[in-house]
Amino acid sequence: MLERGEVANSWRRERWDSLRLLTPNWQSRLPGLRYEGPDPDGYMTVPEVTEFIERFAKVSRAPVRTGTSVTSVRRGDDGYRVTTDHGELACQTVVIASGACNRTAVPQFKAAVPAAVEQLTPFGYRGPGGLPDGGVLVVGASATGVQLAAELRRSGRPVTLSVGEHVRLPRTYRERDVLWWMDAAGVWDQRYDEIEDLTRARRLPSPQLVGTPERTTLDLNALTALGVELVGRWATVRDGTALFSGGLRNVFSLADLKMNRLLGTFDEWAETDGREAEVGSQERFARTNAPSSTRLRLDLGSGEIRSIVWATGFRPDYGWLDVPVLDEKGHLRHEGGVVDSPGLYALGLPVLRRRRSTFICGIEDDARQVIEHLAGYLAGEL
Ligand SMILES: Cc1cc2nc3c(=O)[nH]c(=O)nc-3n(C[C@H](O)[C@H](O)[C@H](O)COP(=O)(O)OP(=O)(O)OC[C@H]3O[C@@H](n4cnc5c(N)ncnc54)[C@H](O)[C@@H]3O)c2cc1C
Repeated sequence: MLERGEVANSWRRERWDSLRLLTPNWQSRLPGLRYEGPDPDGYMTVPEVTEFIERFAKVSRAPVRTGTSVTSVRRGDDGYRVTTDHGELACQTVVIASGACNRTAVPQFKAAVPAAVEQLTPFGYRGPGGLPDGGVLVVGASATGVQLAAELRRSGRPVTLSVGEHVRLPRTYRERDVLWWMDAAGVWDQRYDEIEDLTRARRLPSPQLVGTPERTTLDLNALTALGVELVGRWATVRDGTALFSGGLRNVFSLADLKMNRLLGTFDEWAETDGREAEVGSQERFARTNAPSSTRLRLDLGSGEIRSIVWATGFRPDYGWLDVPVLDEKGHLRHEGGVVDSPGLYALGLPVLRRRRSTFICGIEDDARQVIEHLAGYLAGEL
């Protein structure tokens, strides 16, 4: 196992200080290791996640070579040639487990933002103290964007949040964590080959969830109540002015509709599976309030906005992969982790083999099945 940094590198280097997992502790499990502390319904802090993964590396006795960057993987006569900053390796098979979130996805028009406005991505953000005083424009309203917008607003700064397509979820539903419902109703078990639009499922934005001891819901209504101003999707910059899409009401209605549809499936499941006694009574949530008028333009040179936080998503980085297995969007072509090149495999990607694959707990089943395939390949059975 080659790791360019230390064990749990992404959790040590690429997360902000206040982050907690949005998945509850009972859901944090790795093969043979699960959370056994006093708070199964709580959410781990970043140091706790780091410690959990470090513990797994120890108990599993994973042969990790830390401080070793892979700079190239090429096909050779019998497998792959792997070049690292510490020499070369010849391998019959390679498992790509380099993560799905190595880079931040920032639109090209960032180059047109006036130089006086500071720009950050979640990789550079540690907390509000790292930003200049004054207004902040947070771009993107998925898990990262809503969490950072709330934190920045609570620090006393005026915050504007640019909202595109998003997934609204309550933290708890009928007195249970919404991720308990997903788990119990079998949503996480849905296999990649049963999903109608797999490409879409793999690119779906993260849900508007935050892990807090109070189990608070952090949807757009909660942000509006905090004093965050909502604007539409940021379309471009023209002459130093940010231009936002209109039609926020439609974007909100769609997210509300999808949330209500999902909650409806939970209700049906609870009834047909006889689980009503385990949960509270049915709930419905207020629709997302659209502001009476939203700004379509914001002059970035006026001094109103002093910094921009791009919470516009993450991408994998395969700059080191010299095997032609990427699609036009830069994603790996694979069938449930079996990459489109003999002996090449992938783990740790969204909806790799089932919906659960997107999360830490997804690795348990995925690794077993991908490695079964790999073992068959090495044995010459495939
Ligand atoms: C902001 C954020 C919040 C998240 N919250 C949750 C959550 O609440 N619950 C949850 O279950 N999941 C969450 N995730 C997803 C989570 O990151 C994954 O579930 C999990 O960390 C994936 O582990 P991984 O080992 O596959 O990838 P990573 O954790 O990304 O690890 C990949 C490793 O590969 C190394 N690497 C990359 N390229 C090279 C190279 N060329 N040479 C050598 N080494 C290399 C990296 O240094 C890194 O250590 C979150 C992700 C993000 C970005």
